[in-house]
This record gives sequence, structure tokens and C-alpha cells, in this order.
Amino acid sequence: MGDAVAGGEARREELAANLAEVRKRIAAACAAAGRDPAEVTLVAVTKTFPASDVRLLAELGVTDVAENRDQEARPKAEECAGLPLRWHFVGQLQTNKARSVASYADVVQSVDRLRLVRALSDAAVRAGRTLRCLIQVSLDEPEPGRGPAATGARGGADPADVPALADAIDTAGGLELDGVMAVAPLGADPSAAFARLARIAADLRRERPGAAVISAGMSGDLEQAVACGATHVRVGTALLGGRRAIVR
Ligand SMILES: *Cc1c(COP(=O)(O)O)cnc(C)c1O
Repeated sequence: MGDAVAGGEARREELAANLAEVRKRIAAACAAAGRDPAEVTLVAVTKTFPASDVRLLAELGVTDVAENRDQEARPKAEECAGLPLRWHFVGQLQTNKARSVASYADVVQSVDRLRLVRALSDAAVRAGRTLRCLIQVSLDEPEPGRGPAATGARGGADPADVPALADAIDTAGGLELDGVMAVAPLGADPSAAFARLARIAADLRRERPGAAVISAGMSGDLEQAVACGATHVRVGTALLGGRRAIVR
């Protein structure tokens, strides 16, 4: 057996153990909230990790993977073509990358402005594909005198802009609105932020019962997200290990 094969086997065992632990955390959080674990989809955030890890995760039963940079995601998705995976894009997205992302992504979780809705719609129609969309909402509290919350570094629309974005996605060709996504603000109580997201999601569902996805929670706060109704948790570090800092 060559070293590469031995290394692959060790990595498979590591990922399998991490996956079991994350599934256990999700199950415990669901039990505490009186929810069925089948209501929560685990999305593995594979950014900075190689396509070989994506393949191992797929073999271990992971169905959904996420990436946050187009330059990295596109070749990885191409290498993994043929695996039964749904690809999520979760990063801040420039309109000039919309065509590329529309070629491999099944779900874009970071839709946060009208220009991006238009660019994704054009790209999806050209590609003959349907892109599922989540509206990314900024949960940063607006700082007095500093303009809207949407200027935060993590992206996301101001909650007040969600209805207009939803209308735009509803009427755009090639796009389907599935719900909302958010990242908890740094240094604040994630439970309070996820409770706000749950209220925004409930408002959206009143007119669109089909838009039921709430993507919230990462390695450090998935329990709080599940308690607040998350249907999708996006887990990187707890599954794949620590990431090296990326110099952009
Ligand atoms: C990287 C990333 C995650 C995963 O974060 P971890 O803390 O590593 O679990 C989730 N969501 C988004 C948008 C990310 O960029």
C-alpha cells in the first residue's frame, strides 16, 4: 500500500469521526429543541480543503457541500462532477462571477442585492439551469450614524430590503427563492441574532410558504441555530479541521 493510499485512509477515518461527532451535536440540539434531526441538513463547508476531501465526505454520506470563492469552487466542483452532491455558494459574490457560479452551483446562499439577482438570473437562463437562492441577511446591529447594517464586512442585505429582494427573485427567470441565510455577528450573542433571523424568515414565509429554508449556524454556534429553527447548518472547521489563513 502506497503512502498516498495510507494517507487517504487516515483522512477518511478522521473525517468519519468528525462527521459522527457533528451529527451527534445536531441530534442533541434537535432533541433539546423538540425537533426531528431529519429537518436539519448538514452542509459541509469545504473551502481551502482539496477535492479529495469532498469525495471522501460524499462517500461518508454527506449530500451538501459549500464553497465561498469562485476561483476555488469551480475547479473543485468540476473535479467532483458525477458525485451525488448539491453545491452551495456561500461567499460574497461579485456580479462578474455570476456566470461562472451559475455553471456549477445548485444553491446560492449569499444573494444580498438587486444587481446580483439580475446577474444570477441572466446567467442561469443562459446556462439553462435553475438556481435555488437564499437571501443573505445582515444581522449586524446598525451603528448609529454609520448607515445601514448592510455595510458590514460579512455581507448580507439590510432586513428592511428582504421583501424587495424576494419580489425580484420571484419574478426573475432561472431563480427560485428557498429562504434566508445569515452569519451571526462577531462578538454578539448568536441566539439573539438567530431569533431575529427566525422572525425575518417567518415574515417571508407568510406570503411564500415554499421559502422555508433557514441557513444558520456554523461550527461554533450550530446548537443555538438549531434551537432557533435552522434547517441548514454550514459546518467547516468541526468537520474538516482548522483552515490556514488565506492571503487574498
Ligand atoms: C467558512 C464558513 C462557514 C463555516 O465556518 P466554520 O466556523 O469553519 O464551521 C459557514 N458559513 C460561511 C458563510 C462561511 O464562509
